[in-house]
Amino acid sequence: MIREEAWRILEEYRAGSLDPVDHAARVYERIARWEPRVDAFIELDSLDVVSWYAEQARQAYESGEAGLLEGLLVAVKDNIMTTRNVTTAASRILDGFIPPYDATVVRRLSGEGAIIHGKTNLDEFAMGSTTENSGFFPTRNPWSLDRVPGGSSGGSGAVLAYGGADLALGSDTGGSVRLPAAYTGTVGLKPTYGTVSRYGLIPYANSLEQISPMARSVRDVALLLDVIRGYDPLDATSIEHEGTVLHRLEPVDPGEVSLCIVPGLLEGADKPVVRALYEVVEWLESQGALVEEARLPSARVALPTYYTLAFSEAASNLARYDGILYPAKGESGNWEEFIAEARGRGFGLEVKRRIVMGVYALSEGYRDEYYLAAAKARRLVRDEILALTRRCIIALPGSPVLPPRLGEALDDPLKLFLMDAYTVLANLAGVPALVQPAGFHDGLPVGVQFIAGKHGEPSLVRLGLLVEEHTGLAGVMAG
Ligand code: GLN
Repeated sequence: MIREEAWRILEEYRAGSLDPVDHAARVYERIARWEPRVDAFIELDSLDVVSWYAEQARQAYESGEAGLLEGLLVAVKDNIMTTRNVTTAASRILDGFIPPYDATVVRRLSGEGAIIHGKTNLDEFAMGSTTENSGFFPTRNPWSLDRVPGGSSGGSGAVLAYGGADLALGSDTGGSVRLPAAYTGTVGLKPTYGTVSRYGLIPYANSLEQISPMARSVRDVALLLDVIRGYDPLDATSIEHEGTVLHRLEPVDPGEVSLCIVPGLLEGADKPVVRALYEVVEWLESQGALVEEARLPSARVALPTYYTLAFSEAASNLARYDGILYPAKGESGNWEEFIAEARGRGFGLEVKRRIVMGVYALSEGYRDEYYLAAAKARRLVRDEILALTRRCIIALPGSPVLPPRLGEALDDPLKLFLMDAYTVLANLAGVPALVQPAGFHDGLPVGVQFIAGKHGEPSLVRLGLLVEEHTGLAGVMAG
């Protein structure tokens, strides 16, 4: 197995033992080899363009002015706005849309010298768990090309897994960086709600989502999170919070760890996934961690709660796409016909389904029964998770299943929704959650998830670093 961690590349740059231009060429060799089979990028810069930026990075090191991510290649999910490329959210209704401004996270990345070399594929408007719902093409899992890479940030996960980027951004509304992390043997960290600006993120369900770092190791996601987070006056939900520098943290002493496992939630999950979780938890216990069994009764309602809220917010967000304000899509007819045609052709089936269900949940006469009921249920889930995470870090699988084959999950939307059973909890509660590789089963990656209380990112990073020492899986890529 090949290994490569972004923070180690930076050390080599600083020591002068690796040239950013050479590194970019090496990454592009992998892209040339893998991309035709994986299809992770919607848009990709040429090596010529990237080499020019890498040359600037080399000069920055020479003059001692290098930023925190100087000369690293960062792939960005295509629902995050970049003025240098089109931004489509993998929807035909936005095909050809060049945003008028960069997302705040993109400005922060550029400010620290990162090279954004491409935009990655996703389920249309981030609605899905496999990246098969992309309006353009599905992405494949580099560890097994007939399987999905997870979603909706599957393009970012796949690129990292074959080494086509050093770091990547995804967005996580109900698990969209953590499922890809579990399925591609990479690391994803959904931060505390409000700590990363959503300005410039094409919205799906605002009250649930956060732009989130993805990488091949825990220290690398910490580094990326250090750069993108922080108060932003342009995002009304952004919060002011002095955080510890995450990428310099050291593994936690196992004696300081309190973990909760929730056996009631594990029924129905694939055996290898549960086994991998217990293997990690038992190892931690053998090293001195405190492990207790806990209950999370409200988790039973988490999925319907999540989907009712997400669809409602989506229905209201997607009303802006009328084929007029953004790239014109309709051709003929009066006002209504024009819009209907643009939406009919521009939106994919899953997006339409969610708009219809969201509008229904919000409509007069049904609002109390659906949207308001879900809002109340959300409070139950949140309160339970906040209470539990005051005592312990919750350990769960990343996904209840191993990466499915292409087409397997799509046949059954309900099965697809069940995949999010372990990830939506953190979004409903607004708390941070980390997924990292626990091991492999029959050559397929298996992920483990840790959920902490609000602003518990330092605990997650320190625990993740410890677990990584045990698994030895930092930096691995396919091939
Ligand atoms: N699979 C979930 C959904 O479709 C989560 C997606 C996400 O986090 N963006 O809503």
